[in-house]
Amino acid sequence: MTFVGKQTWSDVLEEIKSRAGQARFNLWFRNTELVSSDESKFTIGVPTVFIQDWLRQHFTGLVEDCFAEVTGGAVQVRFVVAPRLFHRLRQQELEEKAKLLEESASLLQPLSGISAGVGASYLNQQLTLDNFVTGPCNSLAYAAACEIANTTENTFNPLFIHGGTGLGKTHLLQGICLACKKREAPLQAVYVSGEGFTNQYVTSLQYRSMDAFRAHFRGADLLAIDDIDFLANKSGTQEEFLHTLNALTSANKQVVLASSVHPSDISKLRENLASRFLAGMVVELRPPDITTRRAILAAKLKERRKNCPAEVLNFLSARVGGSVRELLGIANALAALARLYGKEPDIALACQALSALKGRSRFSLTMETIVTKVAEEFALKPEELYSSRRTQRISLPRQVAIYLGRELLGWSYAEIARHFGRKDHSSAIFACKKVASMRKNNSNFEDILMHLRSELKR
Ligand code: ADP
Ligand code: MG
Repeated sequence: MTFVGKQTWSDVLEEIKSRAGQARFNLWFRNTELVSSDESKFTIGVPTVFIQDWLRQHFTGLVEDCFAEVTGGAVQVRFVVAPRLFHRLRQQELEEKAKLLEESASLLQPLSGISAGVGASYLNQQLTLDNFVTGPCNSLAYAAACEIANTTENTFNPLFIHGGTGLGKTHLLQGICLACKKREAPLQAVYVSGEGFTNQYVTSLQYRSMDAFRAHFRGADLLAIDDIDFLANKSGTQEEFLHTLNALTSANKQVVLASSVHPSDISKLRENLASRFLAGMVVELRPPDITTRRAILAAKLKERRKNCPAEVLNFLSARVGGSVRELLGIANALAALARLYGKEPDIALACQALSALKGRSRFSLTMETIVTKVAEEFALKPEELYSSRRTQRISLPRQVAIYLGRELLGWSYAEIARHFGRKDHSSAIFACKKVASMRKNNSNFEDILMHLRSELKR
């Protein structure tokens, strides 16, 4: 491309930024490039089909105006998917994910008691089933975990636990493994992440060491694979895993899996794997309700040798929502402040702990904030999302807001329906199904959700 072309494009980008605003610019134009220009015709490369469609429908006019402004003549623009940009976007996503993980890890106390081990295969000695606090949101999954830890019957095989991040999936899987290792006749329990399994599989292929790989995983008495949804779209690894699963279950060995989504929402999952998952037991972890939040907070403070008066627990559990990780963050902050001031936790310290952690997480997140943010990103007004209009332009963003409300606030369908002034909650259920299926079938849609989530967690 000529220097003139590059310069023009960066001037146009500046113009778009000033007209569309920084946030929208970041979402839609951050990963674009000028692919070709032919007098008054410009082709712009974008990373995904979804973005391509979206830009064509919503931004063609604006982009053409910006070109006209810069070049001084009428132009035509066209959007195409550029594979290079797609790969760059994936890379950025992975880096963002890693950053998010790091941030949430820094809210926790340094992990102690980690036994030596390779990569993601270690067990954290603190994640025992005894330390797991139960409530209506997780009691079924917990009961299933205890059943597996304490018997050899394997009545449900595999056990498939799914739920949002920070709700205790890893804790349950590691708790099961620890319990099996501590039995009088210890079991050979193998814990690995879906990513670890995939990497080990790929490496074994490269180094022709499949025998060792198979001996390791098929020789286990119990195999726990965390974040199994990592196998989405990876048909080779899925195939190998299917054989592992068959080998283990036919030898009456237990398999336990965790995933952020239901088996039927894992993208490009082989039919026979999906049906194997569904034939076992599938249990969901839901965000903790207020009573469970209170119990978890009390337990975490007790672990930190802090007694917490009931009124402080009530105060905090009403204000901290979402995932258990947030509760851990607040327990750490409160314990640290109590130590610092040399007094027992009280409401004043609780407020201080809350404000210390605000900004780092979503303590103050409300449904209104979600609606406003989603509306802004889709170039709509919040009123439009609250209206009863059903055009695609408005209903998709509304469905996204509903989905995020479930995910980030843990609201019930009924609560959401009420918030949107609907009489019954069937449309809220539909919205979540729709978004879940879009996530599954349109990996580009995931970009939007990921961006919104990270904006909302700021
Ligand atoms: P996930 O794997 O679902 O993202 P984790 O298992 O890593 O979530 O849980 C996040 C943190 O919250 C961990 O420190 C875990 O010990 C803690 N935690 C989650 N659920 C509970 C619970 N019910 N009781 C006690 N601690 C919990
Ligand atoms: Mg986990």
